[in-house]
Amino acid sequence: MSEHPSRLVLVINCGSSSIKFALVDEQRSGFVLHGLADRLGSDEASLRWQQGDGTTSRQERPLGAADHRQAMEALLPMVREHAGDRLTAVGHRVVHGGEHFTAACQIDDAARQAIEQASALAPLHNPANLMGIDAATALFPQLPHIAVFDTAFHQSMPAHAYRYAIPEALYAEQRVRRYGFHGTSHRYVTGEAARMTGLSPTDSGWLSAHLGNGCSTCAVQDGVSRDTSMGFTPLEGLVMGTRSGDVDPNLHGFLGRTLGWSLEKIDAVLNRESGLLGLSGLSNDMRELEQAREQGHDGATLAIEVFCYRLAKSLASMCCALTRLDGVIFTGGIGENSPLIRARTIAHLGLLGLALDEEANQRCVRGVAGAIERTAKPHGAHLTVPHNVHILIVPTDEERQIALESLACLDAESQADIHADIHADKQTDRGF
Ligand code: ADP
Repeated sequence: MSEHPSRLVLVINCGSSSIKFALVDEQRSGFVLHGLADRLGSDEASLRWQQGDGTTSRQERPLGAADHRQAMEALLPMVREHAGDRLTAVGHRVVHGGEHFTAACQIDDAARQAIEQASALAPLHNPANLMGIDAATALFPQLPHIAVFDTAFHQSMPAHAYRYAIPEALYAEQRVRRYGFHGTSHRYVTGEAARMTGLSPTDSGWLSAHLGNGCSTCAVQDGVSRDTSMGFTPLEGLVMGTRSGDVDPNLHGFLGRTLGWSLEKIDAVLNRESGLLGLSGLSNDMRELEQAREQGHDGATLAIEVFCYRLAKSLASMCCALTRLDGVIFTGGIGENSPLIRARTIAHLGLLGLALDEEANQRCVRGVAGAIERTAKPHGAHLTVPHNVHILIVPTDEERQIALESLACLDAESQADIHADIHADKQTDRGF
């Protein structure tokens, strides 16, 4: 056993009217404490929280008309009580790091400014993330604050994956390129997948499907992202809860000319009224759609079919980014809980030699991780795969990943400081 007590990280995920928080112990799964302050800025702000050990039920307290800073102040004594002197850092989820951030980084004035500059690329998210950073740094000035970016993991994509075939000046001057999101989740689940199968994270190839309200696929080779389905914004790629995913770019012109829709209206329709909601005419919630499909609802049936086909198509195309395929991973609320969606998706991928064990597929729900592939080669598969390709259910844990990356960032910086000191000492010895 280590003689040092394990370190705790307070992880903050700040939205425009909410703060999600979790106190993570580097050596224990689950959370010491976690909760949500929401409806901030209205008259009905409230704080809900729960201890991770299950000794207390969920608790709630009204916060009046609290803003982010006041909500953070309400959290503070609770965090102090549970963390004592083991609180080592505050890890902040930041959506967009642009091309500036390729890894987590400690927040200083320059980093804050760079996050602010990336707000042009994520105008709904980065300003909210900054509100959280400002409130938390004011309240915990003695602690290091680390930013962990949704985009940073994908900065390893090669240019042939991240560039759009549009005039070069739009990239050079406006930074229009594919960035990708959900990086924290793809990184976490591919690392876990390697652990579960006894493979080395730095010598294995994975296709990951994060399926929540937002959805994306990612090709991870030897621990680095080589391609992902989201692009310049999180609208590109798969069918999502309310987002359309890929459409013909000429659709904007058509809707403007024929219906007189403004760009704002088109943005709103594609982001908030499309996807599963738009296709089904019923709901953006997969659970509800599965129930409606059972009862013969045509829109729900179609939405599920389009969702699964597009997902399978994306996974198949992501194979181009890999040098070997060890497994396909499902995660996120839908990926972790829906045997139907997994089965309908894998049914389109028989040509890759993929097939499900239906019993295992049914078993892996509500946080149960596991392998669900059928090991015998399916009848009629045309392509042979060099070895058994796993299909894995891996519950994501973005908070833990943010905490671990925050600590890794601190450890790397202290190592760098030690090296700098040694170097300085050597130079002094030499009389420089
Ligand atoms: P977010 O992206 O907001 O974190 P989640 O990862 O929680 O979202 O995923 C939400 C989605 O997961 C919703 O579409 C929800 O219906 C779906 N989901 C949750 N449980 C189930 C289930 N048992 N069967 C099918 N879909 C489910």
